[in-house]
Amino acid sequence: MKILIDNGHGSNTAGKRSPDGRLMEYAYTREIAERVVHELRKRGLDAERIVREEVDVPLAERCKRVNEYKASEAILVSIHCNAAGSGAEWMSARGWEAWTSVRQTKADKLATCLYNAAEREGFKLRKDETDGDPDKEGHLYILKHTKCPAVLTENLFQDNKDDVDYLLSEEGKKAIVELHVDGICEYLSV
Ligand SMILES: [Zn+2]
Repeated sequence: MKILIDNGHGSNTAGKRSPDGRLMEYAYTREIAERVVHELRKRGLDAERIVREEVDVPLAERCKRVNEYKASEAILVSIHCNAAGSGAEWMSARGWEAWTSVRQTKADKLATCLYNAAEREGFKLRKDETDGDPDKEGHLYILKHTKCPAVLTENLFQDNKDDVDYLLSEEGKKAIVELHVDGICEYLSV
């Protein structure tokens, strides 16, 4: 099983940062993705980042890279940070959530495993349980246009000051990395 890790946006993407500029989503998610891949490889798993470039890579190209693998031979986790506002000011929303495409697929199980891991790490979870599982569902391009099970994680809010302080701490980074590794391992039963 190929474990594909995506990291959101790029150095040329407007916005996508904390109001004080300390957290840049593209840089933060690249650091987390690199550490997740490193930890998965330490466990003997075949993990790889799909976007190693610093600049933004169009979603169609990201999906093309993922779809080089058969649906049964890969999973994708796309790592992001959430935002409640435009990025100009601090907001109050907090917490962790994950997204899948609409309807029941294998991605729902992967998302549930990631939610379980996030709960074990003590994160405040943001859920939509109306369809019987915790993940939120929507027509996100990278989830809709990839064939393998795919989940997008929103790792706390880059426009919440307390979340940003935590995200930037070594404790916070370790927890974000660990929840991805733990959730993926639970899904793969390894
Ligand atoms: Zn994002």
